[in-house]
Amino acid sequence: MGRCDRQVRAYRAMAGGLKLRPRLVPEPLWWISLANLADMDPRVLELWLEEGEDPPDVQSIWRSLERSTECQVCGSEAKELDEVWEYEEADGGAVARLAGFRSLCPRCHLATHLGLAQVRRRFGEAFLWIQAVNGLSRTEAARLVDLAVEAWRCLSSIPRSRWSFELPALGDSEVRRRLEGLMTSMARSERFTPARGWVWTSVNPRVSPPNVQSALSEYPGSLSLVSQAREAGLRVLRQELSHAVSLLGRPSKLDGKPTVVGKWIVFMSTREALRLFRRVAEAISSGAVPALRAKVSWKREDFKAVMVYTPNFLNPRGVAEVARWLASLGVSGRMVYKPDVFTLAGISRGHPSLRPHIYEFEPAEVGVGGALEAWL
Ligand SMILES: [Zn+2]
Repeated sequence: MGRCDRQVRAYRAMAGGLKLRPRLVPEPLWWISLANLADMDPRVLELWLEEGEDPPDVQSIWRSLERSTECQVCGSEAKELDEVWEYEEADGGAVARLAGFRSLCPRCHLATHLGLAQVRRRFGEAFLWIQAVNGLSRTEAARLVDLAVEAWRCLSSIPRSRWSFELPALGDSEVRRRLEGLMTSMARSERFTPARGWVWTSVNPRVSPPNVQSALSEYPGSLSLVSQAREAGLRVLRQELSHAVSLLGRPSKLDGKPTVVGKWIVFMSTREALRLFRRVAEAISSGAVPALRAKVSWKREDFKAVMVYTPNFLNPRGVAEVARWLASLGVSGRMVYKPDVFTLAGISRGHPSLRPHIYEFEPAEVGVGGALEAWL
């Protein structure tokens, strides 16, 4: 008997006969869906495969699926294809099974993805719709959501290494088995995790960012910081740097909590970027470098930005060390460093008076062209 049997059974007993029920994706499986894989650059999918193995063509599988123009739950106009997943424990492991597809209107789709609705601050709307479509009282709908959350919490506690994927909805084919292997490998990977259009490395086990108060208590003052950064080999954008420091004390200007974390942005061809990203991920997971973590975009594009995070932009020596390490891995173009407070303050390319970064590092006299600008 699995540890989540009770919760999963209780949820199914209530949800079984309902037209529309919330389906919460267990945490180790977040972002691993056919829709997301179809959106990903196939070269990015190779991160989860053995060397030399080709990824299945998920985009053409996704496009070939039958779609209806009518929502299969409420009859209004369907805009999205929903993947009907079931989660359960089996044989000492846990399985995510794709049982089928249905066309849904945006309202029914949002109610199905209740966790996402909450993130988008639309939980109330989704909840009312679940109640209305199924003809439930407020208390019954609340009970349904509670049971879904309990099952989700238990399933989420099952370690990544125990999950596997089954895709019976795709019939019986070679490509189905390859896709099952790929999705299983994505769920089990500690090194590469997809989220919101990016693939993230694991977090460095030996590095954690200081809190803002303690970082500021060691802040040597603007002049001294600038000279430390120059000694470390960085080009400093003084106005931008002092603005970044001032934002640390003005949380009302930020969309999120102040932080001294920042990132080097490296721009290169997709092939080179992914090669770099693999090496960066390996070094970060073993704690061999002072970088915090890194990410690369999963979009289909010819050039990619690799972002490598460092714990504290007020420590220019540490920031420069990561830049030199990236140069030693073969990065030859200009790198720019953007503090997260700029991201939180909405400072990007096109800001009327500030550049969107505070440091630059030039490993060699090789230009990267204007395309880097698109990422700032
Ligand atoms: Zn609908």
